Amino acid sequence: MSEAFSIFFLILCTGFLLGWLMARIYFSPVRQTMSRIREILSSGNSRLRIPLKSRRPDVQECVGLVNQMLERNSYLAQQLASTFDNVAHDLRTPVTRLRTAAEVALQDSRDLDACREALADCLEESERVLQILNTLMDVAEAETGSVRLKIKDESIFEILEEVIDMYAEVAEEKEVKVSNMVPRSICCPLDRIRIQQAFANLLDNAIKYNQKGGWVKFHAEDKGGEIVVSVSDSGSGIATGELEKIWERLYRSDRSRTERGLGLGLSFVKAIVEAHKGTVWAESCLGEGSTFYVKLPA
Ligand code: ADP
Repeated sequence: MSEAFSIFFLILCTGFLLGWLMARIYFSPVRQTMSRIREILSSGNSRLRIPLKSRRPDVQECVGLVNQMLERNSYLAQQLASTFDNVAHDLRTPVTRLRTAAEVALQDSRDLDACREALADCLEESERVLQILNTLMDVAEAETGSVRLKIKDESIFEILEEVIDMYAEVAEEKEVKVSNMVPRSICCPLDRIRIQQAFANLLDNAIKYNQKGGWVKFHAEDKGGEIVVSVSDSGSGIATGELEKIWERLYRSDRSRTERGLGLGLSFVKAIVEAHKGTVWAESCLGEGSTFYVKLPA
């Protein structure tokens, strides 16, 4: 009896030991991955990644996903840093001018005309600072999804007619012909005001970066389930290397710096369209005009 018990006890112990050993071997890649994640977290180095060493497909997939997440976080952190740089750079100029104007007024406080002029300059510069801050907040609101959209079925043709009307004077001044070639039948569920603001930004750019006597054309296509609206222009075009960057906050190409602008128009367009679950992209060649596309779910 006691011999049988000893054998049973031995088998039990061996079973436990084997089980423990197998579990250790099985979970070893998971433990290694976890210790690498801890290392990355404690170092704070966003360039570190987890090596894909394990032969287990589930661990490999998990490591791949974590690496993708680290890559995305590092990209977002870079974007944030460059946005801060751009905001600081773009705010410094008007704030410096504001300060200089105020200093001049103080030095010459008996000359009323000079004081008035300085005050007008201060107003103009503070208006610019406010405009940058308001647009930044609009973009942030649209990007975080906190913007409340009032969705209704709307005619794209009518929305564009109103936008074209708003810019009629600007277009006339630059002798740019704007044509609305969108079929009247195309309707889409959207927030009229917000989408109008988005198309207004696209039209503003299409006129601004155009040549005297140029053209802008709006087209739209119902692709069954999605509506694609395009804005083509005969303007200066965009270099291939810049096509990705133009959607970033405060990005302005060096060629555009002679024109008015904050570099926030396209990031606003992108945020608004994405809030509608749509997508935006551009096709262009330097010197050959550009086409901006807005795809919205129907
Ligand atoms: P802004 O026009 O205020 O500079 P945007 O965000 O609207 O800012 O545009 C970013 C940049 O993209 C512009 O500075 C310009 O270089 C480029 N861009 C946008 N639209 C056009 C266009 N239709 N033709 C040529 N370049 C354009």
